[in-house]
Amino acid sequence: MNHAVANSTLLRNARIVLPERTLEAAGLLIENGRISRVFDSSTDASSTADSQLDLTGLTLFPGFIDVHLHGAVGVDTMAASPDDLRRVSEFLARRGVTAWMPTLVPAAAEQYERATSAIEDAMKQTSIGAAEQCSEYRLQSGPADSEKPQTEPGSLNTCPARVLGVHYEGPFVSSQQCGALHSKHFRAYHGPADLDSLPTVKDEKAVHLMTLAPEIDGGIALIKELTKRGWITSIGHTRANPGMLDEASRAGARHMTHFMNAMTPLHHRAPGPVGWGLINDEVTCDIIADGVHLDPAVLILILRAKKAERISLISDAIAAAGLDDGEYQVWGEKISVKDGRTQNLRGSIAGSVITVLDAVRMMLTLGASEPEVARMASLNPARLLRIDHDCGTLEEGKRADFVALDKALNARLTSIGGEIIRNS
Ligand SMILES: [Zn+2]
Repeated sequence: MNHAVANSTLLRNARIVLPERTLEAAGLLIENGRISRVFDSSTDASSTADSQLDLTGLTLFPGFIDVHLHGAVGVDTMAASPDDLRRVSEFLARRGVTAWMPTLVPAAAEQYERATSAIEDAMKQTSIGAAEQCSEYRLQSGPADSEKPQTEPGSLNTCPARVLGVHYEGPFVSSQQCGALHSKHFRAYHGPADLDSLPTVKDEKAVHLMTLAPEIDGGIALIKELTKRGWITSIGHTRANPGMLDEASRAGARHMTHFMNAMTPLHHRAPGPVGWGLINDEVTCDIIADGVHLDPAVLILILRAKKAERISLISDAIAAAGLDDGEYQVWGEKISVKDGRTQNLRGSIAGSVITVLDAVRMMLTLGASEPEVARMASLNPARLLRIDHDCGTLEEGKRADFVALDKALNARLTSIGGEIIRNS
């Protein structure tokens, strides 16, 4: 890996995936970490940039945004130090994920405290101006380091994906739909004091997202209170009926977490959360498109029913992502990983070992178009987190967050705020 640093960089001869179409042999000018021009064809592109890169054969997608990730490369967000989180961020960056939401499972108060404080630090480290941040890394590691292999864990020579805030998966969820979560830490909602006891990430830009089950005691009041506090709410780990879900939607919860997983399945006489989610167009959802959590045929069904406009791709990855098959200790129990499938001792699937890049490959293989996939992997998550004014598409004025995929869908180059990392 090496870095190209310049105030302005012109990318030429790339295919560029926009929300509605893909440009062929196009150009993109990056100035001061942002996209300042997108050229329909490279011949129109001005050549005044400090540096130029020829991307013939590569397709530029907006940087992927993962709103649901528990860890990777041996790091678990529940036990991570700020440096651990940066290692995850560096791993993600090499796979085209340019921003992510560390996701916490239900736990004791002191564990939540420790986890959010690490997230707060990691967010500071990864959110300063990207170019500045990476030059800082180079200064720290010294010029001689550029000769060394860049693969050792914790290497400071990789630009990390941005940590955007925190995603609380629970603790206000249904003990009848645990999935891999531990129900002993599940809670009912009695009033605002219950929220005050959940630590927040103290950074004005931090995004707070919570997955909750509206049917728990106080569930609708919880959605209203979270909405009032500026949190984003998502329905999951739930057995709510459509009437309750309508109430949840009116209270502000219009997104669904790992749609179809950890919720009552569709029955022709009991539509439940799945039937409700499929037919309500104001409802968006995210999916784990690994072919394990959802059969490929079901992925196609969801794509047809919800359309790419209403789907986000998440990984829901655990610490074992990016490592080999084997047995791992995660969330206080043994989780085995074999052929891309995780399983805990209770027999439940316990999260995935993919990244959003794998989900992107899956959806392209199933026939989704490139613009559809770009929406699902970038724009929709950015909209959900209300940061789409700043990122999520390759459009003028937005952060220069993108990934260049080759024809075999390998991530060859990633840019985070204009800082370009070559992955091969
Ligand atoms: Zn999860």
